[in-house]
Amino acid sequence: MPARTNCWNEPGGRKCRCGARGCLEAHAGGWAIVEQAEAAGFRLPDGPLRPGDVFAAARQGHPAACAVIQHAAEALGMGLASFCALYQPERIVLGGNVLGEGYDLLLPRASQRFRSMVQPWMASLALPLSSIAQTAGVLGGAALVLYHWEERLRR
Ligand SMILES: [Zn+2]
Repeated sequence: MPARTNCWNEPGGRKCRCGARGCLEAHAGGWAIVEQAEAAGFRLPDGPLRPGDVFAAARQGHPAACAVIQHAAEALGMGLASFCALYQPERIVLGGNVLGEGYDLLLPRASQRFRSMVQPWMASLALPLSSIAQTAGVLGGAALVLYHWEERLRR
C-alpha cells in the first residue's frame, strides 16, 4: 500500500501544500527540502535549486544542506513510525525521487528515529530502497490506469 505523504508528522510544523501543517511532505518532500535549504541561505549561482543539489551539497559537508537533510531524515523516520502504528505492515519498501536521490543520506538517521519510536516487533523491519525508486510514481500511475481499464473491460 503506498503511504500517503500527508500523514500526520509534527503538530504545528511547516505549512504543507495540502493546506495542513506538519505533514511529512512538508518536511521531507523534494519541494520542502529545497524551501528549507533556501531559507537557510543555500543557493546556487545559476538556476533553480533542486533536491539533488541539496543532497550533493550535504555529501560535501555544506552545513545548511546537512541540517536540512538531517531534519528531513528525522521527519521520514517519524512518518514511517506513524505509518507503522496505523497499518502494522509486514514489509516497507521506500521509493520516490527524494529517496532515490538521497537514500544514503536519509536512511541512517531515519532508520534510527524509526526504530526508536515503533513497537519492538517492528524495529527489525528493513527499510530498503525500491529498485524502481525514481520511477515508482509513474509506474504506479500506469498500473492504476491499466487496472481500471481491465476492470472496465470485465463489465
Ligand atoms: Zn500535507
